[in-house]
Amino acid sequence: MKSRLDKHSRDTLRSFHAQIDADSPFFIGFPGSVDFDYSELTPFFRYLLNNVGDPYEDPLHTNHSKHFEKEVINFFADMFRAPKNDRWGYVTNGGTEGNLYALYLARALHPKGVVYYTTSAHYSIPKNVQILAMESVVVESQPNGEMDYKDFRKKVSRNRKRPAIIVATIGTTMTEAKDSVYIIRKILGDYSMQDVFVHCDAALAGVYTEYMLPHHPFDFADGADSISISGHKFIGSPMACGVVITRKSYRDRVVRDSLYVGSPDSTISGSRNGHTPLMLWYTIKKLGVDGLYSRALKSMELARYLHTELQYIGWTSWKNENSFTVVIKKPPDAIVHKWQLATYGEWSHIVCMPGVTQGQLDKFVDDLKRSKHYK
Ligand SMILES: *Cc1c(COP(=O)(O)O)cnc(C)c1O
Repeated sequence: MKSRLDKHSRDTLRSFHAQIDADSPFFIGFPGSVDFDYSELTPFFRYLLNNVGDPYEDPLHTNHSKHFEKEVINFFADMFRAPKNDRWGYVTNGGTEGNLYALYLARALHPKGVVYYTTSAHYSIPKNVQILAMESVVVESQPNGEMDYKDFRKKVSRNRKRPAIIVATIGTTMTEAKDSVYIIRKILGDYSMQDVFVHCDAALAGVYTEYMLPHHPFDFADGADSISISGHKFIGSPMACGVVITRKSYRDRVVRDSLYVGSPDSTISGSRNGHTPLMLWYTIKKLGVDGLYSRALKSMELARYLHTELQYIGWTSWKNENSFTVVIKKPPDAIVHKWQLATYGEWSHIVCMPGVTQGQLDKFVDDLKRSKHYK
């Protein structure tokens, strides 16, 4: 192997670095925190860390970070009020894998179950439903993106003889709306439905929603059976990752043994990233609950600031309560492109993730003010 890259390849890397660096000030349209610094972990990039198999059983090899992974799972299981003596989870490749695992689990528990998810659910839900070949019913959303509970009641009552698997979204992609597990459970209770499973897709908002008042009902104590979050969103990391939490008693129903690696094959992926658990652990230890909380408050404050500034210049915008997301009337294409804004029909959104600054938002508002559509 050559010891050094040739000049052309080095230039390619250098210009990629320059481009990423130049674009980063305009990164306000997607929900990834940008305030992380994992340089203390760089020595570990000299090693393969493979957390293959179940987090709670060590594989035959020692180059894994499962001791860190278990702490991460426990932190989020505590946060989401999972029962102390009946909890399980693992660090995933992202929110999508957590959703896939949860639906896989729900299908194993209720093979004849019907999946309910709303029109505002993330695209990974219909994809995972298709992968698992499950039956599903799409429920309408209210204008703010939250589940239309009347429509849910109508649709679930028609199928009340069938097990129900409900995906509640805690922070929808476009408007950061949150479905209420309390109301969902209440409706299922009204029809005396017993064979039910409620999964919360809390990829974006799960972590900080738990800290906000008034309490939004979505955790295990509120009636969730599983919760999936993304790690590269609110927590922040240079690599995509996530966490899924459920009950151990559920997981025990689907686990398979893998004699080859010496650890039960209870996860979707076989070999698993051992660096991402280390990063999540690092942030949890560094910030703690207090640090995460004040970081969330700061983002909400910024979102309110942006909303107020937009009102002030007369640009149509709105936001859901306790959210980082400001939904705005779609700006002209040049601005959408420059600021890399996700756009859906008439609307775009800004997500005030940790690391986004007031200065960036001021520049964005200036751009809107100067745009030709502005009167
Ligand atoms: C981002 C997101 C996902 C997907 O998570 P990935 O980490 O990108 O796989 C799923 N659901 C919601 C609500 C999301 O915001």
